[in-house]
Parts: sequence; C-alpha cells; structure tokens
Amino acid sequence: MKVGIIRCMQTEDYCPGSTDFKVIRDKKGAFENVEEDIDIIGFTSCGGCPGKKAVYGQENL
Ligand code: SF4
Repeated sequence: MKVGIIRCMQTEDYCPGSTDFKVIRDKKGAFENVEEDIDIIGFTSCGGCPGKKAVYGQENL
C-alpha cells in the first residue's frame, strides 16, 4: 500500500508529523487491518485554510 500524507499547515511549526509515521509503522488506527507493507510516498501540507492546495499536493504524490 502506498500512502501520501497531507498535513495541516496551521500546525506545521510545532508538529513534525511524528505520530503519523509511528501509526503507519505500527499499523495502528485506520491501518490496523492492513497486512501488506505500507510505503509512505509523500508528506506535504494542505497549503493553509481552506485547504484548496491539498488537491495540488495530492496530484504530485
Ligand atoms: S484547511 Fe486549515 S485547518 Fe484544515 S488542514 Fe489545512 S490548515 Fe489545517
């Protein structure tokens, strides 16, 4: 499974997204039933409210 993360721009100054990587590594939460390997292929910002740039970021993952 390939996963791209689009993170909140409002929190990027103090949140490095560490928990995102840990949850995926440990296959917790939404990933707990995933049996295949998970590859994180991108980590980008939504671009700020109202998140319109998130679509552009997703296209480049
Ligand atoms: S749209 Fe605003 S609140 Fe939502 S993720 Fe982006 S910066 Fe955060």
